[in-house]
Amino acid sequence: MAYILISAASDIIIKKDMKTYVLVLNASYEFLNIATLERAVKLLYKGKAEIVEAVDGKEIGSPSFKFKMPSIIRMLYFIFRPHRDVALTKKNILLRDDHKCQYCSREGDTIDHIVPKSRGGEDTWENCVCSCINCNTRKNNRTPEEANMKLLKKPRKPVYIPWILIKRDASKVGWAKYLFWNINIEEAVEPA
Ligand SMILES: [Zn+2]
Repeated sequence: MAYILISAASDIIIKKDMKTYVLVLNASYEFLNIATLERAVKLLYKGKAEIVEAVDGKEIGSPSFKFKMPSIIRMLYFIFRPHRDVALTKKNILLRDDHKCQYCSREGDTIDHIVPKSRGGEDTWENCVCSCINCNTRKNNRTPEEANMKLLKKPRKPVYIPWILIKRDASKVGWAKYLFWNINIEEAVEPA
């Protein structure tokens, strides 16, 4: 996988089995989005972006040109993007929590309201966690304190949308400093 063939013409062909993603920064170095390697190489090839960080020892290219394999690229012009929120859905809560019961660490596929809804608990990122059926049933209509069930970590709103899409890739060397300016790496890799 050290080399990928790219045509010398303006159309770039990268093997489709490449499951590699590249972090794309805005011209301001702020996070913009996550692109496939193919898309990132096209941006580089067209001179719309530059490489900020590359994967050690890997190159991509054709007979006529070569790039280091990008891990992070930066757009050379500013792209305006309004702030986006992560939708509060059951699926996204389970993703945030890695489908891991936030009380016992086993696999979970239900949502527990930390402060039960019947007692004024709201549908918020901070009040909803992934829970297994057993813990959900055991906790019932109580708060964690009342049930003496400790949360693994404090739930919080995910930082940004790609965080949920590909958070595993976020642990790649170099990405974290552009993605998680307000939280530390441990939280980034195992999001609260
Ligand atoms: Zn559990």
